[in-house]
Amino acid sequence: MSRPKVYVTRKINAEALNLLKKDCEVISWTESSPVPREELLKNVSDVDALFCVITDKIDKELLDKAKKLKVLSTMSVGYDHLEIDEIKSRNIKVGYTPNILTDATAELTVALLLATSRRLLHANHAARTGDWTAWAPFWMCGQGLTGSTVGIVGFGRIGQEIGKRLKPFKVKRILYQNRSAKDQQAQEIGAERVSFDELLKESDFVIVTIALAPETAKMFNEDAFRKMKPTSVFINTSRGDVVDQDALIKALQNKTIWAAGLDVMTPEPLPLSSPLFKLDNCVILPHIGSATTDTRENMTLLTAKNIIAGLKNEKMPEELVL
Ligand code: NAP
Repeated sequence: MSRPKVYVTRKINAEALNLLKKDCEVISWTESSPVPREELLKNVSDVDALFCVITDKIDKELLDKAKKLKVLSTMSVGYDHLEIDEIKSRNIKVGYTPNILTDATAELTVALLLATSRRLLHANHAARTGDWTAWAPFWMCGQGLTGSTVGIVGFGRIGQEIGKRLKPFKVKRILYQNRSAKDQQAQEIGAERVSFDELLKESDFVIVTIALAPETAKMFNEDAFRKMKPTSVFINTSRGDVVDQDALIKALQNKTIWAAGLDVMTPEPLPLSSPLFKLDNCVILPHIGSATTDTRENMTLLTAKNIIAGLKNEKMPEELVL
């Protein structure tokens, strides 16, 4: 009997590739850059399964070409790059990688928050370029966490882990906004559920970990930034499109808010001509939330295991229930 065919859209580690090769015929894009769209469309026509990443748009055009596709597995917890209705209507099983990247992403969010609030990159640049002439009472001052109010928008797995990590920094209050109540988890962390408006008004730090969906797209708009404190720090490690980026740029330029730290933005990579790069109150990271070696290895392995189980009609280790 012929082995099922899998297309892998990125260069991945040998361990995950070998796992797939035990059960499947594997074709892989072998460069570290994203597979060009035309190449991807050409390759999906006769595959049974697809190993994809967040830069691959899995839409109607692709699915119409992938006539034999039974299993799709994305090396991510976010799935805004997948056209869910189109996938559902074709009965394609979907695997993803929740939980195993939660700690790495929560850690990175805390690192980004501190880098932004204490101006670490700006200060490092000053030290290296001769701008550091002498110790001065109010030079390179930032915003402290001690005694502050932290607001977390999207109190899911990552949002909750960020709350746990910030508590030992002696924050005064942790607020959260979430569509469903998370009473038990909130109680453990000591977080209070508030409305979006109240969170914006009260928080010294606003941290975004909500999933991108039609309901959450551009929820951080001009109106939202206007409600925030002029001393507030905005941190986004979810997806760029939850923010109206032009409104954020204006808010940073006009000092409507104090600073922003972004691991995600629109588009990615952010063009060097973006006004965000010209602002000294904005820290930009190239979407590295889950980027620890162990986490990324675990993500490729889980993505492969989802495929193998899905092709065998067994329960996937992490199936996205649509
Ligand atoms: P999660 O546990 O599913 O949390 C998602 C949160 O978004 C929950 O609070 C959920 O509310 C809320 N949400 C989902 N759909 C919504 C909708 N339509 N309207 C309103 N709220 C909605 O996911 P997670 O593991 O914490 O990951 C969160 C996000 O982080 C991912 O979606 C991904 O985009 C992003 N991420 C980024 C990186 C990075 O490298 N920067 C790494 C990993 C993840 P409920 O609790 O009510 O469902």
